[in-house]
Amino acid sequence: MKIATVTGAVQADQLGKTLMHEHLIAGLSGWELDNQAPRHKRADIIKLCVDRVQELQAAGYKTLIDPCPNDLGRDVGIMGEVGARTGFNIICSTGFYNQEMGGNAYWQVRSTWDKDFVDRVADVMIRELTDGAGDEGIKPGIIKLASSHLPMTDYEKKLFAAGAKAAVATNTPITTHTEAILGDQQLDYLTSHGVPANRIVIGHCCGSSDHHYHMDLIGKGAYIGFDRFGIESIRPDEGRAESLLQIIRAGGTKGVVISHDSVWCMRGEMIPANMAAAMSEAPLRFERQIVPKLLAAGAAKQDIDAMLVDNPRRYFAGEARPA
Ligand SMILES: [Zn+2]
Repeated sequence: MKIATVTGAVQADQLGKTLMHEHLIAGLSGWELDNQAPRHKRADIIKLCVDRVQELQAAGYKTLIDPCPNDLGRDVGIMGEVGARTGFNIICSTGFYNQEMGGNAYWQVRSTWDKDFVDRVADVMIRELTDGAGDEGIKPGIIKLASSHLPMTDYEKKLFAAGAKAAVATNTPITTHTEAILGDQQLDYLTSHGVPANRIVIGHCCGSSDHHYHMDLIGKGAYIGFDRFGIESIRPDEGRAESLLQIIRAGGTKGVVISHDSVWCMRGEMIPANMAAAMSEAPLRFERQIVPKLLAAGAAKQDIDAMLVDNPRRYFAGEARPA
């Protein structure tokens, strides 16, 4: 199966070592009203992102997924240019963020009266997946959906139904944002709308210390994201690594993908500058700090390769997971 990157289609076995959730550029809607926050020039953003990608390339990475939804400051043109300059596979997404944090006022209002709302949103995604997004017509290779700390709202359920419809219509995989809870609800909802579990990554599961939560999702056939290494304010890496070791020891490696949720260029000044600077570092924490700890604690090299190479390939190819 061909997988859409921002610079054209590739085969699944060309993905290689893959980070499943990083961001070149992102920002909460409203940043554009902050006339005191610095505005980064496009050329400077591109240069910064090229530098980061080259650091990843030096560490053997070939691919990253930037699952920025359409309403969170997504810029597919910048991704396309960075991909073209580096030869790195960047996979962008189509989708909508949660009710709390997404730029959802237009869609939220529409969802209250439009009887065809789910179809309308599904068509937004299907058009992007088929014809491309932005002025450049760059094709997304993944669908992004999100819930929050709260139970899924009606609006979010409609977005999930739309995402599932687009996923089934175009044979595209889905990745989600969670607050390390409700992954089971997301998975049940998506599979009941026809999306196979092996085409779903439940994101940010490493924020939970609940081993049963992790193994339940893996047991149901989904992938779980250990995709926030380095965001110590939410959960220290030590705890994330400890949970990951538990999963590896329980034979769950086949259901885990890895990343950092770094944001290389944050639009506006939503968070303190020191936090933004930490998030904009090249996402190599897993490689440099976590892998040595896992190996020292008894994980095998194959476990690491499974999470960084085999699982992303299988997920994008739509191959069944090994038993
Ligand atoms: Zn993210």
